[in-house]
Amino acid sequence: MVKTEQIQLETEGFCDLHDITGEVSRKVRDSGMKSGIVTVFVSGATGGITTIEYESGLVQDFRKFWEKLVPQDDFYAHNARWHDGNGFSHMRASILGPSITVPFVDRKLTLGTWQQIIFVDFDNKNRNRTLIVQIMGE
Ligand code: ZN
Repeated sequence: MVKTEQIQLETEGFCDLHDITGEVSRKVRDSGMKSGIVTVFVSGATGGITTIEYESGLVQDFRKFWEKLVPQDDFYAHNARWHDGNGFSHMRASILGPSITVPFVDRKLTLGTWQQIIFVDFDNKNRNRTLIVQIMGE
């Protein structure tokens, strides 16, 4: 069976982290499927999805790391071409990737205890985001 759902988020950009583990878990539990995989995907080239231990220290480290790796005020040809100022956002999103797949067993995600699924908005403005949650299993 395949079921496709959505998660709506209001985000603030500039490396804005959202813990979506609860919503993904609920959708898996309510899907009626016992085991399989769930994929969470963002439609959009300035958002990313990964896992992290979602605690304030690491959230701070994560944001600092991206500023070091892909600085906001560097030169980007994308900005020169489009004047939207979010070349750094696109680069960060490409490196992190737009999706994650997590297996579930007995209706539960197989995440570690301290492992949460996060959506990261790298854009340089507020956004309304739609995440696709596709559950495949039986
Ligand atoms: Zn752009």
